[in-house]
Amino acid sequence: MAIKSYDVVIIGAGITGTMTAFQIAKYNLKVAVLEAGIDVASGSTRANSAIVHAGYDAKEGTLKALLNVKGCEMMEGITSQLGVHYKKCGSLVIGFNARDLEELKKLKARGEINGVKGLRILSRSELLKMEPNVSRDAKHALYAPSAGIVCPYDLAYAVAENSATNGTDYYFEFKVDKIDYDGKAYTIYAGEEKVKAKYVVNAAGCYADEIAKMIDDDLPFEIIPRRGEYMLLDKSEGKVAKHTIFVTPNEKGKGILVSPTVDGNIIVGPNANIVDSKADTSVTEDGLDEIAKGARIIMPGINLNAVITTFAGVRPTPTSGDFYIRESEKCKNFIHAAGIESPGLASAPAVSEYIVDILKNCGLSMRKRKNYIETRTINGNCKLFYEMTERERKEAIKNDPKYAKMICRCEMVTEGDIINAINRPIKAKTIDMVKRRTRAGMGRCQGAHCRTKVAEIIARELGIDISEVKKFSSNSNLLLGKTK
Ligand SMILES: Cc1cc2nc3c(=O)[nH]c(=O)nc-3n(C[C@H](O)[C@H](O)[C@H](O)COP(=O)(O)OP(=O)(O)OC[C@H]3O[C@@H](n4cnc5c(N)ncnc54)[C@H](O)[C@@H]3O)c2cc1C
Repeated sequence: MAIKSYDVVIIGAGITGTMTAFQIAKYNLKVAVLEAGIDVASGSTRANSAIVHAGYDAKEGTLKALLNVKGCEMMEGITSQLGVHYKKCGSLVIGFNARDLEELKKLKARGEINGVKGLRILSRSELLKMEPNVSRDAKHALYAPSAGIVCPYDLAYAVAENSATNGTDYYFEFKVDKIDYDGKAYTIYAGEEKVKAKYVVNAAGCYADEIAKMIDDDLPFEIIPRRGEYMLLDKSEGKVAKHTIFVTPNEKGKGILVSPTVDGNIIVGPNANIVDSKADTSVTEDGLDEIAKGARIIMPGINLNAVITTFAGVRPTPTSGDFYIRESEKCKNFIHAAGIESPGLASAPAVSEYIVDILKNCGLSMRKRKNYIETRTINGNCKLFYEMTERERKEAIKNDPKYAKMICRCEMVTEGDIINAINRPIKAKTIDMVKRRTRAGMGRCQGAHCRTKVAEIIARELGIDISEVKKFSSNSNLLLGKTK
């Protein structure tokens, strides 16, 4: 069989890879994204704090600082173009004593050098007016009105779906294990499978160093996996915080935060612990104790009995401390986007433009695509039932009665939403893929009531037996066999 050839191949479908695909899809090029996981956002992008940081945290003069501030500014435009929930809720860093106040002043000065607008040090009374549930011991806060919140995997799905709609090919369960270069083009292998590309973008997150080694390149730093654990609180608690609230940072980083999410929950976490494995997303008792303690420092009355789920993500922390986005010194036309730790989500729009500029400088000719589709999908309705107005709901049900069949009662997800998710440009084929696209199973009962119904719909739509439906990967069967 002929090997498929592309102008650009992107390795990794996290937010860096998918956002890059979204930017490149505006041009008349053949592009593919290769992803080891079964879905978009299989790495750090799936599990993080979901904060669009304002940009006062990154050291002045770094690439991180530049791209964070620019990415934060671009976020509103991209999310409104693609119908992604985004809220410019602002962030607060609270301080408890004179030392903290000095730190807050330093953060403010740094933010101003980085170009962050509107930073202000608040007095205790101003803070308590904005966040009445915050600790009464807090004396000051740094307020950043430009910070926001976004759902990281929803953003990744949106940009991936837009690029797929504009012709980008996505290969899942394609774990790159070898790369050859003949001086003109790269051949990229995943076992027996292979594709060819003139230009390659290495956006493999924690594994970017391993991809670099495949072309005999060594990144000039190490990637250290640092796990962060979280608790997610029920929507009943959703109003206890209006802003993302941090404590004054220390040597371990930004510390534990309490923040609203765009879906109306409260997120608490993360800690930051180095782990042996880049795939270690386990949640530990000690970790949960640590984040509970941290959350109570911010908000002593926070109701941690309202936890509906816990999870963890792994940061690709570079020992150099900065993003590394440049052409390989060993191989032409091979771009590394490595060490993209926090604020990699906030920075992604700017990171992807930066990558496009490097590709242009490498000689990739970029002509605007005719008939470029700006929106998220061309296949049917992209709004979920719970997002629709009453009028839109009536219209949706009139066009398709499956929108009248409620499957997930916690999150108001209908059969119509689930079928739509299964048939979107990047198809949802597992329970978790449906869950992240529709929120079925994300509510208080965490899928106890709807999981089997979702499995039945997936089986029916994909024409497979229900025992073949997977939870999250190709070896995660939901059902093991028939009992009678
Ligand atoms: C605990 C935590 C909290 C964070 N909080 C925030 C925050 O609030 N705000 C913020 O801006 N940032 C935050 N971040 C950082 C942010 O999540 C990352 O910077 C961002 O997700 C990195 O995206 P990426 O696409 O570069 O990497 P990833 O999302 O890890 O994507 C890399 C992809 O490459 C794939 N891959 C790996 N190896 C191969 C291979 N051999 N072949 C094919 N595919 C491969 C992986 O499966 C993965 O899907 C946080 C991160 C963590 C872990």
